[in-house]
Amino acid sequence: MSNSLFEKLYSPKQFKKQGEKLLSYISKHIENTTTGVNPKTLVWNTPVKELQFWNAFLEEGKKENFFPEILSRTTHTHHPKYTGHQVSAPAPITILTAMTSALLNNGMAVYEMGMASSAIEKVVTDLICRKISYDNQSSGLLTSGGTLANLTALLSARKAKIKHDVWNHGYNEPLGVMVCEQAHYCIDRAAKIMGLGEKGIIKIPSNQDFSMDISQLEKAYQEASSKGIKIFAIVGSAPSTATGAYDDLDSIANFALEKNLWFHVDGAHGGAAIYSDKYKYLLKGIEKSDSVVIDGHKMMLMPALTTALLFKDKLNAQNTFSQKADYLLNDVEEDDWINSGKKTFECTKTMMCMHWYILFKFYGESLFNEFVTNQYDLAKEFEILIGNNPNFEIAAAPMSNILCFRYIDKSKSPEELNLLNATIRQVLLEDGEFYLVQTKLRGTHYLRTSLMNPFTTPEHLNQLLDKIVTVAHTIS
Ligand SMILES: *Cc1c(COP(=O)(O)O)cnc(C)c1O
Repeated sequence: MSNSLFEKLYSPKQFKKQGEKLLSYISKHIENTTTGVNPKTLVWNTPVKELQFWNAFLEEGKKENFFPEILSRTTHTHHPKYTGHQVSAPAPITILTAMTSALLNNGMAVYEMGMASSAIEKVVTDLICRKISYDNQSSGLLTSGGTLANLTALLSARKAKIKHDVWNHGYNEPLGVMVCEQAHYCIDRAAKIMGLGEKGIIKIPSNQDFSMDISQLEKAYQEASSKGIKIFAIVGSAPSTATGAYDDLDSIANFALEKNLWFHVDGAHGGAAIYSDKYKYLLKGIEKSDSVVIDGHKMMLMPALTTALLFKDKLNAQNTFSQKADYLLNDVEEDDWINSGKKTFECTKTMMCMHWYILFKFYGESLFNEFVTNQYDLAKEFEILIGNNPNFEIAAAPMSNILCFRYIDKSKSPEELNLLNATIRQVLLEDGEFYLVQTKLRGTHYLRTSLMNPFTTPEHLNQLLDKIVTVAHTIS
């Protein structure tokens, strides 16, 4: 290999030239999407054609077209007509922290491979712990995604609540976790990875509004216990993904206390409401939990992936993956924050803490107050728009910024309506002006919106409803 290859690869001049060009594309992209100048949220292509394009591009594409093609062949979360999956339209300043993390590549598995970021991670997670109203015994960590964070929390729960050392010696009794049937599928997956099996996931039925039916807890607990299953944790969703319904965390906390269970709050989406003066009441009881998950890349305006996992007791954070017996570790009094890598599933991770820190530093937590409040308010306005329109009905009143609704037509059977709504969604996807998703709830097909974009207004949502009516008429 020649030196000139690496001189070219690492040329600061070349980087500056390419970087400045990309920055101008990105700035234009932000302008054209946030203002809605771009007529489309995505330009649909079939998987086969998209694959053909990128195969051909590798051979024949012009290098300078790489970034423009990526920018046009993707779904634009910054567009106000983006109302789909729960990822944020990242605040542009966090694009810069992501770039800096990519440059430095300090993996954070040990302190000296991320001195600043290890300290910053402690600052940030301590701030969130205080916001949850955890006391000084608490601590947290940042990890790559809510899925991994939920698994980590359940591993901590098992370590803390089960006397037998499963981590080192494997199972000797059937174990179980209680969770609402509406919870995110990653809880199910985590329990399966932990070897609990289907029988170890005790599913609690949901109320009419899709939140956990608290009145079923005792019965479900007794039933599982009578089969010899030792339940060690209960998970509350804040909110659940499909409908955005918050479980009654306060009641779950009381139940957990009574049965000596670990209480985990999956606030991947809406844990951020702790910052909303208006909506933090939805999280009443969160302060009694043993652990909480909050995604930065959902309701906190950051790029994927960054998730805060907060523990009421820092010893539990430290013990999760420790090989030693617990009694030895209980001697550790101080928060072992300089060894953040010991507390996470990952070895190497990105310097994700910078996204949180820079938003706190430059904008303060009032940014999150304003954002969450705005989006949750918008869902309520959308609910009113739908209520005033005889062509639509909602699945349940929105508790967050997630709202499921469907087109209705009294002349059609339930099956025909399911098919019609599925077809509407496919037509909208291929049209590309708006982006929304879909879900099946108790056998009924719904269109699903997550109002993630701060530039979405009731006017956009009215246009969406008009468009759906037009589409419905052309199909049926
Ligand atoms: C999105 C979500 C998850 C999964 O988080 P990722 O960051 O996508 O891994 C878990 N639970 C809930 C409630 C969610 O909304």
